[in-house]
Amino acid sequence: MTQDSKFNDALERLKTPVQFLKGVGPHRAEKLAKLGIHNALDLIFFFPRDYQDMREVISIDRLEEEVPASIIGHIEESSLRNTGPGRSVLGVLIRQDELYLRAIWFNQAFLRKKFVDGQRVLVSGNPKMNGLRWEMSHPTVETLSEGEVFEGGRLMPIYPLTEGIRQPAMRKIVSSAIETFVEDIEEVLPEPFLKDHNLIPVHQAIRLIHDPLDKEEKEQARKRFIYQELFVLQLALAMRRNQLTARRHAKAITVDNRIDERIRKLIPFELTEDQNNAVLEVCNDLKQETPMNRLLQGDVGTGKTIVAVYAMLAAVASGCQAALMAPTEVLARQHVRTMGQLLSKAKVKIGLLTGSLTEKQRREVLADTASGEIDLLIGTQAMIATKVEFAELGLVVIDEQHKFGVKQRAALRGAGTDPHYLVMTATPIPRTVAMTLFGDLDVSTIRQGPPGRQAVHTYIGSDEQREKWWSFFRKKLREGHQGFVVAPLVDDSENSEAASAAAALENLANGELEQFRLGLLHGRMSTADKESTMKEFRDEKIQVLISTTVIEVGVDIPNAILMTIEGGERFGLAQLHQLRGRISRGNHPGYICVFADPKTEHSQERLEAFAGTTDGFELAEIDFKLRGPGDLFGLKQHGIPPLRIADLQRDGEILGIARKDARSIIEDDPMLTHTRWDRLRRMVLIRYGKSLDLSDLG
Ligand code: ADP
Ligand code: MG
Repeated sequence: MTQDSKFNDALERLKTPVQFLKGVGPHRAEKLAKLGIHNALDLIFFFPRDYQDMREVISIDRLEEEVPASIIGHIEESSLRNTGPGRSVLGVLIRQDELYLRAIWFNQAFLRKKFVDGQRVLVSGNPKMNGLRWEMSHPTVETLSEGEVFEGGRLMPIYPLTEGIRQPAMRKIVSSAIETFVEDIEEVLPEPFLKDHNLIPVHQAIRLIHDPLDKEEKEQARKRFIYQELFVLQLALAMRRNQLTARRHAKAITVDNRIDERIRKLIPFELTEDQNNAVLEVCNDLKQETPMNRLLQGDVGTGKTIVAVYAMLAAVASGCQAALMAPTEVLARQHVRTMGQLLSKAKVKIGLLTGSLTEKQRREVLADTASGEIDLLIGTQAMIATKVEFAELGLVVIDEQHKFGVKQRAALRGAGTDPHYLVMTATPIPRTVAMTLFGDLDVSTIRQGPPGRQAVHTYIGSDEQREKWWSFFRKKLREGHQGFVVAPLVDDSENSEAASAAAALENLANGELEQFRLGLLHGRMSTADKESTMKEFRDEKIQVLISTTVIEVGVDIPNAILMTIEGGERFGLAQLHQLRGRISRGNHPGYICVFADPKTEHSQERLEAFAGTTDGFELAEIDFKLRGPGDLFGLKQHGIPPLRIADLQRDGEILGIARKDARSIIEDDPMLTHTRWDRLRRMVLIRYGKSLDLSDLG
């Protein structure tokens, strides 16, 4: 039999619907489906969410409050009390010599049948002293025969449950699936590799993760799966990286001294050290004949744009075109404007491509792009939606990359050679998440903003402080400054956001900001209206812009130094930080006050963190911690399937190792074609082939 057909047979068996497995049947199968368990394979990889320490069976008089434990005793009596319609308390008294423990269950009257007086049982749970007697509510109970010696020394798996399936049943279902099918699971990691990495083989790992003798065994099993999960992901990312670079050809873009000088002459300020380093790294990539694939990260306002401008001008100087894609029309138009100003003395033709162009405008831009007339094409997602043809596309820059998915990133391609890619993000990302989301990219970081930047003072305002804040706000406006008011988020719909902003404007115009010129900006406005509002704001015809989070991304108005945020508890930390970025762009200190009604502990912590630091990287780590391991930080949103057992926050160290291993393997064997990697390659493709576009690795 060939490897493949053996694999297919095994897979066929593993796909046996749970309904046909021992102890399941159609009724339970329906319940299991709710847990995402459909077949034998799902059951085997349905890992416990926790373990109960059963190591010690102790005497009742050694129980401690809230310390989970197990005791062995005999059922003395059980009683069922109805406490209302459909409500009941089942109490089972367990005797251990002269000591007693009461086990209780709420609303599970049906359990009563299970408890036969005089039966010997093992009871495990969380003991609490109630009056003078120990009680465990909803413990697990196993029956033991009279002479049976309880083995002890085991960790009991605790599975996520759904209504209608209890822990003991779940344990039986899983363990029987393992007994029947475990040999069908294939080992994807070669034996020497396991040895080198101190990992246990997969069959052993499956048995131990579901049924460990002790903590150590549990950890060994978990480590194997955590490593494997992260390793497979990192392999996929490394393969993708390789696919985007090594096998591709780009036009080498060389920057000599003359070009460098010419570009710098156009820039009205000196680049900072971080910017210069980033430029250097970019230029090193550009001069290769393999496409650059680089992420430029830097907090809001640190000056990423100019690095991109430099790269685009370098491309144009080498006779190529460059494209810049931004997530919103406002931002795209802002880029057109700044670049237009910067390049007013240079012979560089800029084109704009967004969804709001007329058909005629669109056709013109497309024609000029195809003919090479346009050097620099700036636009929104419309650039991907429309099939844009370039005469000679040398470089693609993507601004605010986090707004785009992993796949979208590579959507712009030239006809002949491939363009170099520079993607930028202002959303600082925890290190481990960056390794995952951007595992396929090289990274340049701008940490320090331009000199002369003033601090932003951040206040969390209570209702009593409103009056004081607004009077300060007005004073600063009278001094000639401008500001923003961000209206509360209502829900996700643009309509209600627009209404919220309009209502805020109405209130302010008749209240706190009566004497000032106010403007409105929200996502429901036409592009022309948005543009003219932004222009009026820039020209200081509008003093205060009342807005939704439309302004969150990239908008650059140095004279705006004030911001009021209403309903701050509804905003995420990253979002607040982005908003604050709008007012830290000039040479005056900024002032932001967030009014909030923090209802949950987390929103309180979030706001305190926000007021506590302006370092975006620090905030990102805090945010990550606050969201907890359950939040997968938008992996899904980026098109990456969620992790099952690894936790980026907890498993950062293993992630780093997995990434190094993956990169070094892919360097030697970019397509994992060596036979020892056959199974691993198959797993990488099954899991990430689609989402990361690896399909043509076949
Ligand atoms: P972001 O990184 O958020 O995209 P921008 O590139 O928009 O930031 O830059 C923010 C502001 O800082 C812009 O007004 C830009 O002109 C200015 N700026 C950028 N670099 C420098 C510098 N080296 N010296 C002075 N001002 C700079
Ligand atoms: Mg920017």
